[in-house]
Amino acid sequence: MHRISLHKKKTDSLLRKHPWVFSGAIYSDTSSIEDGETVTVVDHHDRFLAIGHFQHATIAVRVLSFEEREINADFFKDKIGSAVEWRKKMNLLREDNSICRLIHGEGDSLPGLIVDYYNGVAVIQCHSIGMYRSLSFISEGLQAALGNELKAVYSKSSDTLPERIESQDGYVFGTCEVPHHALENGVAIAIDWINGQKTGFFIDQRENRELLGKYAKGKKVLNTFCYSGGFSLLALKNGASLVHSLDSSKKAIELTNANIALNNWTEQHASIVADAMEYMKALEEDYDIIVLDPPAFAKHRDKRHKAIQGYKRLNAHAIRQIKPGGLIFTFSCSQVIDKNIFTNTIIAAAIEAGRNVRILEQLHQPADHPINAFHPEGEYLKGLVIAVD
Ligand code: SAH
Repeated sequence: MHRISLHKKKTDSLLRKHPWVFSGAIYSDTSSIEDGETVTVVDHHDRFLAIGHFQHATIAVRVLSFEEREINADFFKDKIGSAVEWRKKMNLLREDNSICRLIHGEGDSLPGLIVDYYNGVAVIQCHSIGMYRSLSFISEGLQAALGNELKAVYSKSSDTLPERIESQDGYVFGTCEVPHHALENGVAIAIDWINGQKTGFFIDQRENRELLGKYAKGKKVLNTFCYSGGFSLLALKNGASLVHSLDSSKKAIELTNANIALNNWTEQHASIVADAMEYMKALEEDYDIIVLDPPAFAKHRDKRHKAIQGYKRLNAHAIRQIKPGGLIFTFSCSQVIDKNIFTNTIIAAAIEAGRNVRILEQLHQPADHPINAFHPEGEYLKGLVIAVD
């Protein structure tokens, strides 16, 4: 195994158990190391610091262990086994909820690996070449942890790996037809990991959708950026009088319509294919509740300013036009927009719209998307429920 030594003053973050080594911290010549190799990281006295996956990139090493141990099938069995067991203990997988994130990268001490679970099917998304090269260990680990409950494992990593890597999406264990039905808080959802966005569904909004359900009875709801309609479904389950779902993607609206039909709620529902920003400029109806859940407006720090302007404009349109006493569920999943910046942006939007706004709830990502305390960058989803007077 290659040993990589760090510059003298670049060991602090690893000693604080931050799981990344940036290329600038490395002293050794790494030119002979292949993408995805497992390496040992040492300090300038050759003392052990960590073991991780190497990649020729800004984040050069993603740490798998701060103890000396082999990274083999047993390693993945241990890590995946404890992540699954913990979620079962937390009651995240139940009879009425068969959708759950099983592995959330750094939050489960497996940087570069995402595994989402849909009623017997695990969908893997590798964000590092090392994880992609470990697919068979990962699949074995999932089979060991889930036993007979697991019907298939699908790898969907071609979108998330660097282009220089030849990768193919497909089943690494079993097979399963899509769309495949699963339950989120008692609501049937059809999941298509092959043709859908990301792993097929946005699991991270589960608790926030349930919260919307608590406020939805008898209400007229507009769900923008709806994707497959998660928020719409929970609103309808809880007695919303009418739900409009909007997305710019025709395919997303087809998924929403299919999910609404699956649950027999078509009469109280209508879909709109449109650009949300355009549509929000002049709303044609009075809504009691508006959901704003856009894709990440900023993927990098240098796009932050523009993103803030985008969030402000979108929210100002909603605040200006919602019914008096109405609620807005507003979100940002941009990691570079933190909680404070987001709240300040919503306040600025309220000022621009000229209406009184109260913050009722502060929302975040759920327990199956845990944040490693030594890796604060893992916090990405934030939201507010605001009441507009
Ligand atoms: N709220 C969804 C997840 C949203 S993902 C859920 O609960 O599952 C973001 C969605 O925004 C995607 O479906 C994407 O197609 C849609 N989108 C992106 N840009 C858009 C735009 N300008 N107007 C409307 N929808 C847009």
